[in-house]
Parts: sequence; structure tokens; C-alpha cells
Amino acid sequence: MTTTAVEPLAPPAQIPADELLVAGEWRPGAGPEITCTDPATGCTITTLRGASASDVDAAARAAHAAADAPAWRDLLPHRRARLLHRIADGIDGAAEELARLQTLDTGKTLAETRALAASAAGTYRYLAAACETADGELPTPRGEHLAMTVHEPVGVVAAITPWNSPIASDAQKIAPALAAGNAVLLKPAPWAPLVSLAAGRIVHRALLDEGLPPALVSVLPGSGAEAGEALVRHDDVGIVSFTGGTATGRRIAEIAGRRLIPVSLELGGKSPAIICPDADLDHAVAGTLYGIFSSSGQSCVAGSRIFVPRDRHDELVARLADATRRLRVGPGTDPRTQVGPLVHHDHRDRVAAMVDRAVAAGARVVTGGRIPDDPALAGGAYYLPTVLDRVEPAWEICREEVFGPVAVVLPYDDEDDLVRQADDTAYGLACGIWTADHRRAWRIARRVRAGTVWVNTHKQFSISTPFGGVKDSGLGVEKGRLGLRTYSTTKSVYWSLAEDPIPWAAPR
Ligand code: NAD
Repeated sequence: MTTTAVEPLAPPAQIPADELLVAGEWRPGAGPEITCTDPATGCTITTLRGASASDVDAAARAAHAAADAPAWRDLLPHRRARLLHRIADGIDGAAEELARLQTLDTGKTLAETRALAASAAGTYRYLAAACETADGELPTPRGEHLAMTVHEPVGVVAAITPWNSPIASDAQKIAPALAAGNAVLLKPAPWAPLVSLAAGRIVHRALLDEGLPPALVSVLPGSGAEAGEALVRHDDVGIVSFTGGTATGRRIAEIAGRRLIPVSLELGGKSPAIICPDADLDHAVAGTLYGIFSSSGQSCVAGSRIFVPRDRHDELVARLADATRRLRVGPGTDPRTQVGPLVHHDHRDRVAAMVDRAVAAGARVVTGGRIPDDPALAGGAYYLPTVLDRVEPAWEICREEVFGPVAVVLPYDDEDDLVRQADDTAYGLACGIWTADHRRAWRIARRVRAGTVWVNTHKQFSISTPFGGVKDSGLGVEKGRLGLRTYSTTKSVYWSLAEDPIPWAAPR
């Protein structure tokens, strides 16, 4: 494994002040302190006072009033679209700064965070267009009766996001929620709140410039237990849009179920990456490693279970190991880095402990399996890209999401055996298939239970294509026109034009 030395960020990213966006105002939170750490060095970036339950209450009440204010409620779709374009322009204008801030806070490579900033701007633009062109339905009249269906805002959206790609996952919730006419309370994760706050300044400025109620969007980083649960339980919140772990999603769904409010859940995964015997192996090996090791494996769709034909097992393990050893591990600011640090030392230690348990159970470490020994990386939350072999499907390492740079190799006998093993998981988020046989690809793609399937690629996304999981990977979809509907309720209006609308009077 090649490692590269830590270099300081240049130019220094702008660190947001100790202020949250609560009910249209920037002020320190009243909740517990959040320490933001640069995972490449372990140094503290800044501290913030996070949101308390009382901050959530203030933001939710103000959001409820703002959502119902005529200035927003009666705004025509092309004006909502103008707001979204203005936010997109703001993100584009600050893209480099936002990317650097996200790299500083999460450790992701600059190449990744630049792409995420661009995708966030693209999300706002897509939703601006979707908002202007959204249709209701007006079926052919039945005799003298018309019936039409209109889609109305839910009211206040609680948007709860994880730390791995904050600027993109925030945009995937704020943009459709605003496009559908709602107010939004965003709660980013406490490990990486800085870019959400910086993008929040852009959203806030755009609301003011458009003359709209600033309380339409609050940004409330804080703990899940206090700020998160306060949001889900708040009477003024009409829907929870959550991205994060499955256990948290289940808890949120239980609370929301008691309140009878809808939830959209984008949860975890343990996705298969399938190498078929006829695959172009250079592409398959490079693509499979990208699928698991980019973002240091901290991706919900990471292809963490690599399936190889049993009779090609040794050859493929050797190729995967060789290519993995050549990956460059280092700080996200170094343009040569392919695998950055994990988001936090606590998370790195959790990943290391999972690998240690697998090894204790009998797994073979093909490569990696430890913290790098390069002294230049000593302060950071690094973990070497790891390939494990000779694992049992029932073991934790094959069943639980590691959310780190760790792949297991699993051999299969034939297509039926492959599909059975690929589906032998509680999750159903994504699947990558590498093959030159398009009929085979189609058969496997249709049989595997997953929300997204990639053929001869991995981790490719488009804002116009719906994304979601099945089984324990989630409920509902984001992105695409379907994703916009998540944030609306449906109302049907019947309208009679008949002279005698209900001829029910008894005959004289
Ligand atoms: P997490 O579930 O610990 O936290 C996610 C968010 O929920 C955070 O903002 C957290 O503070 C909040 N939260 C925690 N407990 C809460 C509670 N009781 N009530 C309300 N909010 C609460 O997840 P994480 O560690 O931040 O992120 C990693 C997970 O996210 C992984 O499982 C990953 O697969 C998943 N993820 C899924 C997708 C997807 O689109 N399917 C995308 C990215 C990440």
C-alpha cells in the first residue's frame, strides 16, 4: 500500500462560526458541545454548541408558521424554482470552498467532495425544473363530473442526514422538500456538520434575497438522542426523511408510526459485487475496488461482498490483492490519494474491531487488516484497504455493514448459487455485476433483490433516476420525479357541472 504524507489545507477552508440556523436566525445552539475533528490529523477544527430540544421546538414552530405564510404558501411554482436556482448558483459559486470544508471535516478526497458539491448544485437545478413542470392529474370527465388530483405540501419536513456525504444528502432532501412547497428542518450528523452549516448560509441568503420567510429552513446539528428524537416527536413535523443506519431508521419509524406520520428511509447496505467468469478482469477488478474502497468504504452502496467463481477464486483473489496493495492511502487534500482516512477515530476503531473479530473467527487477511504504520499518517483515522478471504457467510463480517474499507471474498458455484448467496442478507440496497454476457447480466439484475443494480460499473448516480432500498435498506425513494412526490400529500377534488348533481329527491 502506498501512503502519502499529510499536507495542510491550502487555501484554508472557511470555518463556520459557532452558530446554528434556528428559526431564521444564526445563533449558538443550547445543546451539548460538538467537537469537529480533522480525521486526517486528529486535530480539532472547531467546537460548536449543538441544537437542543428547545432549539428544535423553536425551529419547528417557526417552520410551521413559515410554511403556512401566504408569501410561501401562495408562491407560484416558477418562483419556487427561482429560489432553487438561486441556491444552486450560490453552491456553484462557493463550490471549491464547500469541497475543502467537507474534506476537512470528513476526510474524503477533494476529488470526491468536488463531485459532491457539483451534484448538490445539480440537485437544486433538477428540482427547480421538476417543480416548474410538475403535473396534477385531470382525467377525462365522467359525464357532467370532473375529478382532479392535486399534490399539496406536507408542511414541515424533518430531514435527518448522516456524516458520509453531507452536502449531497442534505440537498437531496432540502431541494425536493422546498420544491414541493414545504419548510425543512435539517439535522446533520454531529461528526461532520460544517459543510451543512456553510451550505445553510447559502440557502438562508437565497430565502432573504427572494423575500421569503427565513424560518423555512433551519440547520440544527446535534445529537440523535436529543435533537434527532425531538424532531421526530415534534407535533409540527409532518414527515421524516431519514438517511442513516438501519437501527436508527427502525427507531425513527417506530416513533413516526405511533404518530401516524410518513417516513422516507435510506438505510444501510451489504451490497454484492459480482465478478462473472466472462468479465473483462481488468475492468472488473478496478471497478470492484472502486466500489468498496472509494470514500474509504464509507458508502451505503459499497460493494463489500465480492463474489468470484469458485474455480477462478485463487487467481481473482491474487489480482484483487495486488491492485488493493497499490492503492494510495493518504489525506484527502493530496491529489494522489485514493483512500482517505475514516471520518473519526472512534469509527476507525469500530472498523478495526470488526476485522479483528473476523480474524479471530478464522478469516484470512489477504491484504490490509491493520492501521498503516507510515509515521506521516500516525495522527489520522486511517485504516488500510482490507481484503478478507476464507470467511463464513454466517459471520458478522459477512452480514453486518462495516462502513469502512473492508471487503470479503465469497466463492460461488453457478448462477443459482450466486443469486442465493447474494440475497442471503438482510439488506437490499445495491448490486454490481461484471460480465461481458448481457443476457446473464439481465438475468442476475432481475433476480437479485436490490434498489439499484450496476452492470459493468459501480457507484454511478443520476439525480433523475430514483434511488432507494428494499428489505432492511429502506422505504421509499429519493431522486427523480418519484422522489419529489415523497414530500407531497395527494388530494382529489370532485366537481359536478350537472344541472341536478345528485338526483336523489323522491319522485313527487
Ligand atoms: P446514524 O444512523 O448513526 O445517524 C444518522 C443520523 O441520524 C445522524 O444525523 C444522527 O445524529 C441521527 N440520529 C441518530 N439517532 C437518532 C434518533 N434516535 N432519532 C433521530 N435521529 C437520530 O448513521 P451514520 O453513522 O451517521 O451514517 C452511516 C449510516 O448511514 C450507514 O448505515 C449508511 O449505510 C447509511 N447511509 C445510507 C444511505 C442511503 O442512501 N441508503 C446514504 C448514506 C449513508
